[in-house]
Amino acid sequence: MNRLFLRFLGPVLLSIAVASILVYAVVTWIFGDPIEQSALRQAAPQIFLIEQYIDKAASDEWLSRLNKVREVSQVKFELIPLNQASANLNQAQREQLKAGKIVIDAANRMLYRRVDLDGERYIGSEDDVLQAQDLPIDYWFNIKLEIVRYIIVAFVLLIPIGFWSRSHWRDIQALAKVTQDFGAGQLDARASTPTSASIYPLAQQINQMANRIETLLSSQQQLLHSVSHELRTPIARLEFALEILQDSLVTHDADTDAKQAQRIIAMQGDLSELNNLVSELLNMAKLDAQGQLQKASIALDEFVQNCLQHLPPKPSGLQLQVDILAPGKSLYADHRLLSRAIQNLLKNAYKYADQKIIWRIALQGEFWLISVEDDGAGIPEAEREKIFEAFYRLDRSRDRATGGFGLGLSIVRQILVLHGGRISISESELGGAKFEISLPMGS
Ligand code: ADP
Repeated sequence: MNRLFLRFLGPVLLSIAVASILVYAVVTWIFGDPIEQSALRQAAPQIFLIEQYIDKAASDEWLSRLNKVREVSQVKFELIPLNQASANLNQAQREQLKAGKIVIDAANRMLYRRVDLDGERYIGSEDDVLQAQDLPIDYWFNIKLEIVRYIIVAFVLLIPIGFWSRSHWRDIQALAKVTQDFGAGQLDARASTPTSASIYPLAQQINQMANRIETLLSSQQQLLHSVSHELRTPIARLEFALEILQDSLVTHDADTDAKQAQRIIAMQGDLSELNNLVSELLNMAKLDAQGQLQKASIALDEFVQNCLQHLPPKPSGLQLQVDILAPGKSLYADHRLLSRAIQNLLKNAYKYADQKIIWRIALQGEFWLISVEDDGAGIPEAEREKIFEAFYRLDRSRDRATGGFGLGLSIVRQILVLHGGRISISESELGGAKFEISLPMGS
């Protein structure tokens, strides 16, 4: 059952219950209690007997007629004092009884009526009440009848609500799926909500927003891609020219020769740095363009081995501890990309750790928790969000020495977003930075 309907169910049933009580109160106020009236109808033969047979007798015959009726009737007729009868009744009923009217007590299947108002049947008859017991009144039948009536009303009301909420719920779910797919990188996901749907204007807005985002992203990617490509050719040409220049270095002054050779080597270093940057940029552009992941299942141990194999050599004096806390389990992910993300974290740890790095993989509920922590300088709290932005580096002089462009973590975050995961930074117990990834198991 859809959640929308369930939300409606409570208030609708409550309103129907309130409406039923109101209807009952108003009907009783205007026309009298319907349950009592129905009881009066059921007791009509006995009332007829009292009014048309017993009461039609001459005054001195009245008691003997009553006794005759007593002999044959299933209903028990008793004469009781007015005070005793009044004690069983409420104020309104007492007044009715006093006025000589028939008063019905449906719940106890009884009725009361004064013998007469002026004592003409027998001496003291004005103080007596004729009480009929065990009347053929089915009190519960009357109540059940009222309940059934209201249940039918509730059903009839709930059916259209059910139909409406079902189609509304489906439209909402379809729209939610579109936004989820779009958020996960499927940029061509669009809502196909029918024009008749009540959320059609919202779906239109979402589609327009998606169009704009897709256009913006693709132009940004194209720009990044073309700039990187355009840079490649002049870099290659420069590299080639430098090599020729180096080969043709023939002067008679050995000192000048050595200086020029040194400059050429520095220029070659700059060029190779530029080359690396362009490669990283192209990788990022590719990652952006990659809407769909190539997911597959991989044993955790194999995944860890793959990651470690493709890392650069570990700096000497550094200890890397790998804790796999979910042995024998498998990961379902685009493992080429995921291992790249983890390698980026490990490479950073290689750069910034003093002595020790811990890489831990654990399962918590439906999530993988993967952390990489070190005993380095750590990352100040104010910088923790910013370092995921492209080209953001903490301390330029320190980073130049370590040779980063500030793209590694931005790539990590992109890969995790594609997988529906998250990354956070905290302080490690080792003293340095702790990067913690949480990844849905079925991501
Ligand atoms: P880079 O290629 O410069 O390492 P990243 O995006 O990987 O770029 O990292 C961004 C910045 O975050 C780095 O320049 C560095 O200042 C900081 N950083 C990343 N990892 C760590 C770490 N383990 N310890 C301390 N600082 C770190």
